[in-house]
Amino acid sequence: MCEKNRVLKIEQGKAEVVELPMPHPEAGFVVVRQTVAPNCIEHRIHKTGFYEFHESPTHAGHEGVGVIHELGPGVTDWQVGDRVVVFQGWACGKCWVCENGLGATHCINLKLPPEVEEFNQAASGGNGFCEYRLVPVNMLTPIPDELDDKYASAANCLIGCTYSPVREYNITKEHVCLVGGVGFIGLATIVNLKYRGAKVIVLGRDEKRMQAAMEIAEADHFVNPEDPDWLEQVQALTPHGRGVDFAFECSGYPYYQQKCLDGLRHYGTLILLGYAAHEGPELKWDLNTESGLCWGHKHITAHFDVNFNHREDILRTLCDPWMQSKVDQLVTHTFPMSKAAEAFELLNNRGSSEEFIGKVHFIPGE
Ligand SMILES: [Zn+2]
Ligand SMILES: [Zn+2]
Repeated sequence: MCEKNRVLKIEQGKAEVVELPMPHPEAGFVVVRQTVAPNCIEHRIHKTGFYEFHESPTHAGHEGVGVIHELGPGVTDWQVGDRVVVFQGWACGKCWVCENGLGATHCINLKLPPEVEEFNQAASGGNGFCEYRLVPVNMLTPIPDELDDKYASAANCLIGCTYSPVREYNITKEHVCLVGGVGFIGLATIVNLKYRGAKVIVLGRDEKRMQAAMEIAEADHFVNPEDPDWLEQVQALTPHGRGVDFAFECSGYPYYQQKCLDGLRHYGTLILLGYAAHEGPELKWDLNTESGLCWGHKHITAHFDVNFNHREDILRTLCDPWMQSKVDQLVTHTFPMSKAAEAFELLNNRGSSEEFIGKVHFIPGE
């Protein structure tokens, strides 16, 4: 058995693999040997040194896939060698959100008890970008035998976190949806909407991303929100010009939040999926509730990740060949974890790149 754990340490402008003592699980935990560690927004830590919602290194590298390596005392529902998805977040498993099978990231007690955080820090650097990772058992889901690790890894913040909101609202081919602000969350939202047959209009300014939205994610139309008549263009694509049934805001910026709200029909629903908290106070959305919401009887809600009770279904969905072809196109790069700094540079400079740079995967053992 390997004696050291290889862990990625990220600071501003620096990312290096360090060796720490092997973690051993306490009751309620297992150690997973990770085979794929997808990057989510951790390249921003490399750019700014700020951990955002990760708060500390504990939650950086939160998406993972691997094989159970060691069981904690009293863990009986799992076996060494089981292939698993590690779902993001450290949900308590006991509050009403958890008990009702809702999104783990929305758990009322999401913050770890300090003793667990301390234990995790000491044993594996606390980081999810590591070869051997401590995981609470309620954040594991078994991977079907026929599903490759690469596709299973899309169950977190690629196809997964955008799957739950699309499914929760029972979106079908009857619906016209608007997706505003297209990064990889936006692209994955389009994929989930197209999987369910909806008509999708994309709102975006970046040519490369719009091309990816149309060619990879198979959106039906795109509209440039800078066009003076952008709203009329969106409405013209909906029945009776009434506006879209659902709008998905995927950037976290007020610019797109307002436009997504404006694009909705009366009684329509805006679902906020974007997260951009690192940008500071200018992100406050100055919402006019009366004309923006009340007269149109509109709904605004938000969603951040896979519901507990959707986990097995999302893994079955990822067995679908069409879905797998989308994951193949959305995951554009794979790096050994030891070359993470190179990957972060690539992601932080993707605006100036000629090629489309989507999701990046790390291989922790390399
Ligand atoms: Zn993520
Ligand atoms: Zn909870």
